[in-house]
Amino acid sequence: MRVAFIGLGNMGGPMCGHLVHAGFEVTAFDIDAGALGRAVAAGALGAGSVADCARGAAALITMLPAPPQVEQVWLADGGVVSALEPGSLAVDMSTSSTAVGARLVRAARERRIDVLDAPVAGQSIGAKAGTLAIYVGGPEEAFARARPLFEAMGDPKRIFHLGGHGAGYTVKLLLNLLWFIQSVAVGEVLSVGVRAGVSLDSLHGALIGSPANSVFLERDVRMVLDDGDYDEAFPMRLVTKDLGLVLDLAREAGVPVELSALVEQIHWRARALYGDDAGQISAVRLYEDLAGLQLRLRRS
Ligand code: NAD
Repeated sequence: MRVAFIGLGNMGGPMCGHLVHAGFEVTAFDIDAGALGRAVAAGALGAGSVADCARGAAALITMLPAPPQVEQVWLADGGVVSALEPGSLAVDMSTSSTAVGARLVRAARERRIDVLDAPVAGQSIGAKAGTLAIYVGGPEEAFARARPLFEAMGDPKRIFHLGGHGAGYTVKLLLNLLWFIQSVAVGEVLSVGVRAGVSLDSLHGALIGSPANSVFLERDVRMVLDDGDYDEAFPMRLVTKDLGLVLDLAREAGVPVELSALVEQIHWRARALYGDDAGQISAVRLYEDLAGLQLRLRRS
């Protein structure tokens, strides 16, 4: 089966490599010549444009930064929807919006192309290891066709078919929201506790043994507490993009989300202070700076 892959960045590059490794014939494209060169070195065939890449492929995957790039690559003149053959399958694995997703589905339906939204979690480490979690929305038959592709890139036990079109984007945005709420909450709690005179080692140990524990507190924030690493593999420009998309989703769903709106602004403040490319846990750094301390564990 020939697969087209567009968007070969931190995530798409290694995902494309796994498809090659699994034996698929992969044609790849990226506007960044360096990213395309790395995919070709890993065994993909390089294409000269989006349309060249898509033409004749049985399945196509996009892994692009945000909704505007997804819309451009799929729907512009020379985009993938006009280049793919009727009967092919097109999967957007970017973290994008349900609104843009609905426009892709409408355009693709006219050309009898099946569509899935299938964003991922697991960071660039998971992309490199081929252990991503994948959150899929769209028809059951299209999901069954895409499953071998997903299994080459993700953990087979964490490939979730969640419902019709848009369900994948929705769940992915919500899990990111919950994680980014926890980043702010943990930054606040640890800073207050240390300033109030409890050692970070005692406080952290007690919290992870308490009913208030979370994966963020026990595992993910350890990058900061152990090494002062705020995780630049996922930059603040993408954090604030995702939070904007989830607030749009809440507005469309008609649900007031005061906490999420405040959390979004705190992450925007961290982005303004530390830069677009600062790491995704920069909200914790914001609290460290506000409290005038560094949250570092003494135990290893
Ligand atoms: P990235 O910026 O590293 O890569 C995006 C790639 O798309 C780049 O190589 C860029 O050149 C290419 N691109 C942009 N516009 C293009 C166009 N018009 N045509 C062809 N190529 C184009 O981003 P990433 O970290 O790989 O993230 C991709 C998506 O995955 C985003 O939606 C992100 O939110 C999501 N995501 C990222 C992570 C992570 O840890 N980095 C984790 C889960 C989900």
